[in-house]
Order: sequence, then structure tokens, then C-alpha cells
Amino acid sequence: MIIDVCQISEKGLEIKKNFPIDSSLIEEFDGFYLEKIDLYVTLKMIREGIRARGTVKSNVLLDCSKCAEAYNLFIDSSFDILLLPVENLEEGKSSLGNDDLESIFYKDDKIDIKHLGYEQVFLAVPQTPVCDDKCKGICPNCGENLNHSKCKCENKISSEFGILLDKIKR
Ligand SMILES: [Zn+2]
Ligand SMILES: [Zn+2]
Repeated sequence: MIIDVCQISEKGLEIKKNFPIDSSLIEEFDGFYLEKIDLYVTLKMIREGIRARGTVKSNVLLDCSKCAEAYNLFIDSSFDILLLPVENLEEGKSSLGNDDLESIFYKDDKIDIKHLGYEQVFLAVPQTPVCDDKCKGICPNCGENLNHSKCKCENKISSEFGILLDKIKR
């Protein structure tokens, strides 16, 4: 879905959309898998550029950074950003928006709503996702997922000490 900048007035343009995500977007962002996004956004022409305020909701599939298993995370995030023509950047114009709002750029007077939605979901995903606060991770010694079963290393004094002992024995 592409919005032409001329459709946006000072009164604002309200967009409510539910759209599927294609793999090209995921590839472009080097991102994670998700099926669809619920986007609500109002685009408003202000002095500095186009202000975009809204919310994104989606169910993303992530790999836990502790146990490496895939899990679903529900994203419900709000944003308030400034959209600026990329031509401003290329021409080195001094007015690059507003210090209070984060800026992103659009090209040829067109705003790709799908792209904007995916970007906002992408930004809302934690850098080191964890499937659960209580995730026990994997045993550094034997690689067993400790959420599912206890590993055999537990009888040893400590897994770290166990590795050390193994090294000495060799
Ligand atoms: Zn986990
Ligand atoms: Zn173990």
C-alpha cells in the first residue's frame, strides 16, 4: 500500500490496515518471520515534515537467545515519528526535522505503508529475545535444553568445573 504525499493534509489522514507480510520485506530488514501486521496510523502534514503516529500489532516468530527454541511474541507498540523526503538528505539541507521525533525517509513523494509498519514492528522486537523470564537456557557443558529435562552434568560439582576436569584428564 503506497500513499502519495499529496493525499496528506494538515488535518491528517487516518489509515487502519491489516496486511500480510511478504518475504522480500523480511529479507530487506534481515528480520524475523511474521504473518501479518495490524497497523493504525495518522499521517499529518506539519512544518518539519509528515508526522506519523500510531500503533502496530503483530505476532512474530523469534528464536530465544538462551535456549535457541522458536517462540511467538505478541508485539503491541506505539510510535510517533517524522517522515522526511530522502531528497532533503541528498541535497544536504540543514533542516533535517525535529530533535524530539525520530526521523525516517521516503522517496519520490511516496510512503510505503507496509514498509513503515514492518519497520516499526522490527524496532519493537527485543535485541536479545528470551522465550520466558524463567527460561533456563541450555547447559553449556552438554547442550541439553534445561527447560525440557535435567541434564546428566548436574551430578558433577559444577558444569564449569566439569569442563576443567575433562581438560586436565586429557
Ligand atoms: Zn528460552
Ligand atoms: Zn549438561
